[in-house]
This record gives sequence, C-alpha cells and structure tokens, in this order.
Amino acid sequence: MQLVINSLSKTYSNGVQALNNVSLTLSNGMFGLLGPNGAGKSSLMRTLATLQEADEGSVFLDDIDVLNQKTKVRQLLGYLPQEFGVYPKISAERMLDHIAQLKGVINRNERKELVRAILDKVNLSNDKAKNLGTYSGGMKQRFGIAQALIGNPKLIIVDEPTAGLDPAERNRFYNLLSQLGENTIVILSTHIVEDVSTLCSDFAIICQGEVLYSGKPETAVYDIEGKIFSKAIDRNELRIYQENFTVISNQLKAGKLHIRVVNDIHPQNGFIPVLPNLEDVYFSNILTRMDINTI
Ligand code: ADP
Repeated sequence: MQLVINSLSKTYSNGVQALNNVSLTLSNGMFGLLGPNGAGKSSLMRTLATLQEADEGSVFLDDIDVLNQKTKVRQLLGYLPQEFGVYPKISAERMLDHIAQLKGVINRNERKELVRAILDKVNLSNDKAKNLGTYSGGMKQRFGIAQALIGNPKLIIVDEPTAGLDPAERNRFYNLLSQLGENTIVILSTHIVEDVSTLCSDFAIICQGEVLYSGKPETAVYDIEGKIFSKAIDRNELRIYQENFTVISNQLKAGKLHIRVVNDIHPQNGFIPVLPNLEDVYFSNILTRMDINTI
C-alpha cells in the first residue's frame, strides 16, 4: 500500500496554521513523524484518520481518496490517539469483544478467536480479565494497540504512544509496533528521536506545520557525517559559542556543558569530531526554524 499526501494545509479558526503544504509518500513499514510540541503532528494524524478536515491538498491510500471517502478509509484504519481513555470498570477481553462487535464481527466464536489472537499479540493474555482501570501505562498503550488492530487495518496511526512509559514498557511497546510494520503502513508520531532511530525505516521532521526533512534515518545521519563536532565548555560561555558556531545541542554533564556544533569543516578551537546521530539531524533541521533555547 502507498499513502500519498499532497500539499496538505490546515489553518484553525483561531488563525494557527497547523499544516503548511505538507507532502509525503509512505509505503509499508514504520514511518516516524518527528517534531517539537505544536509542530502539527497530531493535526496531520487526525486528518489522515478522517477525524478532521483539511483546507487544501489531497491524500490517497492507494486509490482511496482519504479526505472524501471516509467510510472506506475507516474500514482500513487503526488509530491510537494521544489521549486514549479507557473504561476503568471493564476487562480488556470484554472491551475488545465489544469493539469487535462494533466493527462488524457478528459471529460470536469468530469474535472470541479474534480477541484471543489480538490479546496474545499484544501480550495481555494473562491480564485479559483485569479491569482496564488497574492497567499500568504500558499495558494501557498495548491495549490501545489491540483495539486499533481489530479489523486487520492496513493503515495504523499512533500518536505519541511512548509518552509516560517507563523504559521496560517502552521496549515492549517498540517490539509490538515493529512486528506490525511488515505488511501495514504504521505512522508513529513522537518528539522522542530515539523512537524513530530504533523503529522507523522512514521518517519526516515537521516544524511549524512544514516538512523540513523526509527520508531514511540512516541516510540522514550519513549525510552529516564529518560535520558534527563537540566540545566541553563552561556554562557561561554558551552565548559566545552560539554567536560564533551553529550550536545544535548542549548538555550539562558533571558541571561542564557539552555542546555539539554542525560545521562543514573542522572548526578547530578545541572541538573534536564526533559520529553524528539522528538527534543531530533533528536539531540541525529544527534550528533553522527555532531558537535552541526554546526547543
Ligand atoms: P503536535 O501534535 O505536533 O504537538 P498539534 O497538531 O497538536 O501539534 O498542534 C499544531 C498547532 O495547532 C499548535 O500551535 C496547536 O496549538 C494548534 N492547534 C491544535 N489543535 C487546535 C485546535 N483544535 N484549534 C486551534 N488550534 C489548534
């Protein structure tokens, strides 16, 4: 399947332009949508999930016109929104059974088998009888994926799914997501760069509603090889370095500020060349739009 987004724009009634001429082409696999808070990620996800209108542009899922054939899209869609509320006093098993019924699986035995298989996939079989209100953050997210998987979706959209998860829960969730990408388009929005480097075969950076970069994480990192340099400085020197170099990130470690700069040639001055990572790609793109202190 292919999802082709062409020149999508959206301005809210309060005048905020959340999407500005967004064009992207996605194929099967995990696609990461990276950007700071307020970049427009959720607006894009909600539009793709047929929950909100765009002002301009088009979106096609193969030959389905996503903006105009909403019912058709919804039959192929699995969506895990950012704020995923659960009914606290119902078990995961009953809830999934109910959702399956709503999605048109009328046969009781068929539904039972479907719910069993999905609970197994998200590793909640042992907790299926527990009320959802007792679930941990990670379990809730895995339940969220379970509900999104009912109906065998071809397009799965998950909006900032790892927010609030501890490292172990995040790992389990990662593993689950990567299994899904094999014959489905999975779009994952996040502001955690590591999510994208761990999981995604393709990604885009969006900021202030615009696509700043799209491509493969490894290509993006390769393209800035030999251009990232690091130095430990005193905290009060940051301003001077910012004036003289393109400082893309700074991190305080044991009283020293470790800065990373992007430069076409070795900047000398005690800088050392370092291997680039996706975070360098992210910050060097975002910096073209935002002040480093506000990122
Ligand atoms: P992200 O998901 O990347 O954090 P959003 O898509 O939620 O970004 O928001 C993009 C911009 O649109 C932000 O400035 C946000 O405040 C604004 N916005 C989002 N939803 C609405 C809305 N319903 N009405 C008005 N402004 C909104």
